[in-house]
Amino acid sequence: MLERRPERLACPNCDHEEVAQLAVNEQRWHNCRGLAGLSTPLVPAGMNCKVEAHERDDYVGGDRVQTDGEGRPIMNVTTTRDDGQDVVVYAPTASGTGESIGLVG
Ligand SMILES: [Zn+2]
Repeated sequence: MLERRPERLACPNCDHEEVAQLAVNEQRWHNCRGLAGLSTPLVPAGMNCKVEAHERDDYVGGDRVQTDGEGRPIMNVTTTRDDGQDVVVYAPTASGTGESIGLVG
């Protein structure tokens, strides 16, 4: 395994900072006060980027969705850097009774 030197990480939406020694492609997360408590990725300190939460636009119905601290259904969190984007999707899960999916009957 490659040795990595500690890197200073920060959040563009709050004052959270930490130093971590990450493996290749490892991502650090925190519960962001700036984005209503959502779990969002940290970026290298000083990086020119933005991390944004996008609300789900369509009807939630009976789906179990990720909500932020204010109860808004969140569809994804997007990190936009000068050289590209990373998107973390909070996939909804359907719910139902055993009867409705044919397990009881
Ligand atoms: Zn934050």
